[in-house]
Amino acid sequence: MPWLHLKDLASLGRTCRALAATAASLNLLRANDIARGLERFPVPVFNIVDHVLYPLFSYSPFSILRSSPPLLPWGSLSRPPHKTPSNARPPSPSADICPCVASNSGQILESNSATNHSQLCMEADSPPISKRQREMPPLCGHLLEGELAYDGDSRLHCLSMSSKSDEWVPSNEFLSIIECGPACGCSLRCKYRVTQHGLSVKVAVLKDHLKGWSLRAMDFIPKGAFVFQYAGELLTTMEAQSRQRLYDELRKTQAEFAPSLMVVREHLPSGNLCLRLIIDATHVGNVARFVNHSCDGGNLQPCIARLSGSPIPKLVFFARCDIGEGDELTFSYGDVHGCETHPCFCKTAACKGFLPFEET
Ligand SMILES: [Zn+2]
Ligand SMILES: [Zn+2]
Ligand SMILES: [Zn+2]
Repeated sequence: MPWLHLKDLASLGRTCRALAATAASLNLLRANDIARGLERFPVPVFNIVDHVLYPLFSYSPFSILRSSPPLLPWGSLSRPPHKTPSNARPPSPSADICPCVASNSGQILESNSATNHSQLCMEADSPPISKRQREMPPLCGHLLEGELAYDGDSRLHCLSMSSKSDEWVPSNEFLSIIECGPACGCSLRCKYRVTQHGLSVKVAVLKDHLKGWSLRAMDFIPKGAFVFQYAGELLTTMEAQSRQRLYDELRKTQAEFAPSLMVVREHLPSGNLCLRLIIDATHVGNVARFVNHSCDGGNLQPCIARLSGSPIPKLVFFARCDIGEGDELTFSYGDVHGCETHPCFCKTAACKGFLPFEET
């Protein structure tokens, strides 16, 4: 029964009292934790607006390559082997010095991680890497531009160093972070693996009478703290275009259908390279699929994180300002307003009236 979809479970529950009780307990488990035990914290769902259930999708804390959505149990009590206890703190940074720290202190990395860094998802027609880039590979724990990424509390340094907690930094440019990865000799506890432990704060999914589903902070989130990554299926441009056409058709007939297709373009400092990251969280994803748009940039800073030795970048979010308990988590979907079909309800002074839209 934990594998049944909601409608099938409801039908089964109507057949006898025993199954009705089991179905009710499974529904309660689902509402108590949309992440199904796969995150550090349970993610409850609240809906006092209507009786419409949240969209069906397979939960995954991390992005996967395009595939048939895995069949995950709903409300299963079994926990994955890597699961840490509820309310547990993230693994504290290791006291051991990361081998990358030594490498970062002056010399250029000798390992093949430097090569891997420069091979990230470049489009086929991208120009070759410049001589300067070959000589100055990105280093673990740094921004692509070269500055140190994190402070002693594992908060994004360029955000946390401002003394004013409510001062927002502009988010029109994605920051690029290099973290330790498969090419490094350090453990998962390394202080340069901040974005690699799934959801790092308590959140809840809440139905809003205007916006639909939204994501709220259930605890205080300090400025610069890592929040979560945007997980989903990683698509090629052709796959994304095909799905977009399908989703456009489905939206015409299903009012509640809410696709979550994210396209990220990033221009590297050289100016010659443009990365294109397409993540579809419609069928497989995590809590980030519930984050709504805000025309003023919202309270989340989107960043691109790259793991040394991994060819696939990640879209991750940090707090742009101190975020209070109960605040809605938002970020800017972009500033392309070519198709004004979906009204925006962000209610900020910068609101343009419509949600951004970009052709895949
Ligand atoms: Zn490391
Ligand atoms: Zn490293
Ligand atoms: Zn708006």
